[in-house]
Formats: sequence, structure tokens, C-alpha cells
Amino acid sequence: MQFGQTVLVLRQLLARIRDVMAGEGDTQARLERIVQVIAVDMGAQVCSLYVRRAGDVLELFATHGLRQSAVHRTRLAVGQGLIGEIAAKAKPLALADAQSHPSFVYRPETGEEIYHSLMGVPILRGGRVVGVLAIQSIDRRRYSDEEIEALQTIAMVLAEMVASGNLVGPEELASSEAIAVPPMRLEGARLSPGFGLGVAVLHKHHQVVRRLVAEDTAVEHERLRKAVSDMHGQLDVMLRANGLAGSEHADVLEAYRMIAEDVGWLRRIAEAINTGLTAEAAVQKVNTEIHAQIARVSDSYLRERIQDLDDLAQRLLQHLVGAEDRAQRLPPEHDFVVVGRSLGPAQLLDYSGSRLKGLVLQEGSANAHVAIVARSLGIPVVGQIEDVMARIESGDPLIVDADHAQVLLRPSAALRRIYERSSADRARRRAEYTQLRDLEATTRDGVRISLNVNAGLAVDLQPLGDSGVDGVGLYRTEVPFMVYEQLPTVEVQRQLYRHVLDVAKAKPVVFRTLDVGGDKILPYWPHGNEENPAMGWRAIRVSWDRPAVLRQQLRALIQAAAGEHLHVMFPMIAEVAEFRFARRLLDLELERHRGTNQLPPLSVRAGAMLEVPALLFQLDELVQVVDFLSIGTNDLAQFLFASDRASHRMSERYDVLSPAVLRLLRQVAERCREGNVPLSLCGEMAGRPLDAMALIGVGLRQLSMAPPCVGPVKAMIRSADTAVLADFVSHLTTVRQASIRADLRAFAHDHGIALA
Ligand code: PEP
Ligand code: MG
Repeated sequence: MQFGQTVLVLRQLLARIRDVMAGEGDTQARLERIVQVIAVDMGAQVCSLYVRRAGDVLELFATHGLRQSAVHRTRLAVGQGLIGEIAAKAKPLALADAQSHPSFVYRPETGEEIYHSLMGVPILRGGRVVGVLAIQSIDRRRYSDEEIEALQTIAMVLAEMVASGNLVGPEELASSEAIAVPPMRLEGARLSPGFGLGVAVLHKHHQVVRRLVAEDTAVEHERLRKAVSDMHGQLDVMLRANGLAGSEHADVLEAYRMIAEDVGWLRRIAEAINTGLTAEAAVQKVNTEIHAQIARVSDSYLRERIQDLDDLAQRLLQHLVGAEDRAQRLPPEHDFVVVGRSLGPAQLLDYSGSRLKGLVLQEGSANAHVAIVARSLGIPVVGQIEDVMARIESGDPLIVDADHAQVLLRPSAALRRIYERSSADRARRRAEYTQLRDLEATTRDGVRISLNVNAGLAVDLQPLGDSGVDGVGLYRTEVPFMVYEQLPTVEVQRQLYRHVLDVAKAKPVVFRTLDVGGDKILPYWPHGNEENPAMGWRAIRVSWDRPAVLRQQLRALIQAAAGEHLHVMFPMIAEVAEFRFARRLLDLELERHRGTNQLPPLSVRAGAMLEVPALLFQLDELVQVVDFLSIGTNDLAQFLFASDRASHRMSERYDVLSPAVLRLLRQVAERCREGNVPLSLCGEMAGRPLDAMALIGVGLRQLSMAPPCVGPVKAMIRSADTAVLADFVSHLTTVRQASIRADLRAFAHDHGIALA
């Protein structure tokens, strides 16, 4: 069949199915008429409908062409035979010669031996296979993609009927509610830190679409147009509301709105309407197809974009079939945790409010837009929990413990009390840290430690208003780049950096140039499939090969820092030559800037990150060429110990609080002091009070950390004495043990040093 012809046949066929569905007779009788209509209109000798029953069995419920005596007798396990394979894989199958397929199982009671070709599609509802629809022909027919799609559309229309409860008794759907369900611990990945307690609210993705076949296609096109326009209006309102203007998640929502305007997506929906579906059925169909495509894609970025599309499809459906009142579904007067397969950033904002205590997702990654927004809002998120929707019931009490990447489901009263206590402790400590805000980070013996924040999100810049923070020790420029759909222009970058400098109000900001590659993938950035991306083509190595991108970034930084001090830092320097190269590009851009009549920066300082062990052996040369150095212990430790920083298994294996690491850091601090080069440390360890205490013990005086760590680290500093500490840490660098963590903790305890 030609494409146009298929569409026409499909439209007529859908109209006929609609008439049968709305007509006389019981469900079984109507099913029989439906399979007959499908067989005739699709030019097949057989059309059969199998329904999934308890025990994962597919039962023949209606057939036109096979023996009627086989109805309700022929049963295949999911995975058994071709029909079972379609159900197991939830994918269509089209074969010109079905009997020669290795999975073919001959069922004599059906009389199907004379049919050669077979095309079958899963009947899906809410992402679950509820049955299989198949046609067969005597001749060896090759089915076109359009025909497969047509049968899928029909299967979608039938899904509602199959899952209505009229075909399969409700007892088969009975859940194990009567059985007492024990507590459970679910492991996942930490996407946004913190912990929270609440009852589960299941984020249902799939709205029930009841009207599937259109009466008037033109009316459906108009309904779609209006729904799209209403949705855009609502997204605009959402962008303006929530106080998001200028913040990181405003960018996220903006990108999301761009997807909503994607003509490709809307055109596919319009085409589905042309086949005879209602607007809502068309949205659902296109969404199902996109899901099926994405199931075959391993690229995490694409998966995230699909989540956004899914979010939009649900939103569009709400406009088409009427929104449920979400407040009705939220547990009254309870703190709650949203549990879902995935969630879009706008949907998170729909739920957000003081009673939302956490988010639990089956999918998601730290780069997902929803995770970025959740971090800004301080909502803990645990993602990548298998089968989460099947394991958590609505109303289940749970603890989202993102700090330990786990969810405690139906926790015992004792466990809840422990978390409630630590939650109260946390609140109390936060209040104490707030009081420290305006106090200096000075030790008991009067040594001033410079405390800075690591930033990348707008919200990270908030502490700069406090007098207790000296500046931004590390601004990860790649973070904002992650939410753009394409590489931002020089002007867009200039505005972004200018905004950061404005918020910093003359406090120094160290801009680190793009550190992409490794685990930081930008959608528009070419990244090969390297076996070991953390050690691959990333950061300065990319700039070496593609200097234009770095030059543009440096140009934007120079322009943004007009009349201000500019600090630029280059990541992943492994050889002094790489730093010299980067500095040369900076000089070239400064020269270019001088050629314009724009205001130059007040001063320009160029620094390097010390993250690659090879650089440790070039310190003599390095200190002569850099204006400052910053130790990135996250990467440095992973390369020193050859221990992947992202590996779950390796995370506890080696301790940075070891004599070897501390000796090494002490040497770097001494070398920098001799060379008069300012030294900072901006790895995660700087933000952990015990680790920071050891760092001060080996001579570091400048630390940069995630904003929430500033309070606890400052409390530690104000209760420590550097001279006593240095002596003790010096002794620890000589001991023969892999970790000196316990010794440091005992020392802090004995000397009254505050550790959170
Ligand atoms: C580091 O490696 O320690 C560092 C601060 O950089 P990032 O975590 O961004 O790799
Ligand atoms: Mg690093």
C-alpha cells in the first residue's frame, strides 16, 4: 500500500472500529466484529487479538480467520512463539515467512499452518503490554513501515477496551494489598543532596485518553492548535512566576519552551490526526513512538530530552482532556515526596512548595534539567532506582536520603525518629551557621583562612552577599553551558559572566574555562565514545585541538570584566606547555580587545588547576609562569589512586586523608609559598570540615567549596589552632597507615574543634 492510501484506509478503518465500539452487543461480540473489520480492511485473511492474563499468559480472545474453537483455548506464555515474543519485547514484528522464524510455535488447534506472512504489534497501555494484535496472510507478503504504523494505531485504539476490565475480570488485577508490606531500602544515585521525609505521591505519567477516533479531523486540528497555544501561555506564566527571572532554571525552562515549539514534534502530531485520531490520541501516539525510539538510544542527553518531550506531551494532554486538580491528589496536611519514572523541570515546579520534601525517580541523571532545578530549590533527589513505580505505593511513607543515595521505604518508627532527629539537628546547626555568617574565618591563633564558594548555578552565588565569603574560588563555566541547546555566542557568554561579576560585587571570581568531556557532556559538543573519558579528550586538551571555542570564551570574559579584575583558570593542565598555550590565547584576545575602544579589565590573572599528577613534577617551572594555582582534588585523587571518582564501588576504597596525599599537598603549599604563588584548593574535600582541618594543618590558607559547606567549615576554623594542628598533622604524615581519618577525628574531639 502507498503511504497516502494507507492513511485513507486507516481513517476509514478507525471510523468503522469506532462505530463497532459504540454499537450493540457485549464486549466479546464487538471484539469479534472488530477483528473482522481489521482483517478485511487491511487485506489480510486473519486478524487475531490476544489479551494478557494473570501469570503472564497471552490468550486468544478473538479471531477472524483462525478456528473459532481456538478462542480462549490458545494460550502462549509471554516470550513463547511469535506472539509471545512481540509481547516480551513490546515491539512490532513483521515477517513474510513466519513459519521459518526460529521463534515460531505451531498450535494445531488454530489451523494457522496455511498462513505465511505475519505482522503483529503489542497493545500498550501506560507503558505495559496488555495484549497483541496480529494479522496473517496466505501469501508471503512484505509489510511496509506505514502498514506497521497503521496496525500500531489500531492497537492503541483497542488498548482502552482491552484494559477496561470488561475482558479480564478485576480479580486478575487484584493487588496484594491485604499482605503486610515490609520496609525496604532502595539504592539509587544522588542527583541532588539532602534528605527529606514524606508520604509518596505517585507522579502518574499517563493520562487516560478515552476518545481516540475523531469525528471531524478539522475540529481535532483546531483543538490541537488551541491546546498548544494555551500550553505556551502557561509556560510563559511559569517562566515569569516563581521568581525565576535571570536564574539558572529560567534558562532551563526557556530551553524547554523551545522544545514545545519544535515544529517536527507538532508536525508528527498533526500527521497522526490526519490518520483519523483525535488530538489527544495523536499526542499519545507520537509520544509512544518517541519512547520506543529512545529505548534504543543509549545517549544520556537524548534520553533527558525525551523526558522533556514526555513532560510536554502530558502537559498538552492536560489541556486537551482537562487537567486533574493536582491539589486534590496531594495528601492533605502531609509532607510528601514525589515518585515518578521521570519528571520534567516544569512539573517539578508544579509540585514545589514547602510540603514537597523530596523526589524519587526511576530515571534521571545529575545533568538532567530536573536535577539542576531541584538542586537550586534545595530538594533532595534520588534517581536511577529500578522499577520504582512498581515498588512504591501511593501513600507509602518514605525517607529520601540522597546523601547516601538511598530511599527508605515504609521505615520503622525507630528509623523515622532517627531521621527526624537529624533533621531537627540540621535545622539547629543551620541556624548556628547563619550566626557565623558575618564573622571572620579566623583560627584561635589569629590565622585568617580565605573561604570561597564553588559556583555554576545562579543560586550558588547567593552567599556572596555574606561578608564571611571572600569570593568565587571556582566558577565552573560548563554548568550553564549544559542547559543551552547550542554553544552560546560570545555575547550570550558575556552577559552571563557579567551577571556573575555583578552579583559578586567586586569580590574576586575565578572563572574556569570550559571543562567539558569526561562526565560533562554538552549536547552540541562532539564527544567520541572513549573507553576512558575522564582521561580522554576533555578540558584543555579539547581547547588545544579546537582553540576557537576557548578564544571565544576568553573574549567574552575579557569583555564582561570591563573595569574589573579578571581571574581565568585553565583545567586539566598536564604539562606546562599546555598552560603556556592557553595563556598565549589569552594574550591574543587581550591584544584584540586593545584594538577595540572598549574598556579593558582592571587586571588579568591566569591560573592553572592542579589535577593531573604529572604536573606535580613540573612545579618549579609552573610557579614561574602562573599567577595562581588551585588544586582540584576530585580529579587529582582519582588519577593518583587510579580510582574512578564516579565509581560507586571505589568511593570508599582510598582515603584522601592519607599520609601520602597530605605529604604531597604540603609540598605543593611550600613550593607555592616559596614561589610567591597564591594557592587554593577547590576539590570536594575543602568543604568537609575534617578534611579542611587537615588541609589547614599542611599549610593551605585558601579553600573553595560548595556554598552549604561554608558554615560548617567556618565553625571548624574558628575553633582550631593552626600551630597545634600543624604539629599533629606533620606527625601523621609519617605514620604507616592508609588512612589517618580516625586520628584526625580523635584530635578534633580532644581539642574541642567543631566538626559538623
Ligand atoms: C576537581 O577536579 O577537584 C575540581 C574541582 O574540578 P571538577 O570537580 O569540576 O572536575
Ligand atoms: Mg576537575
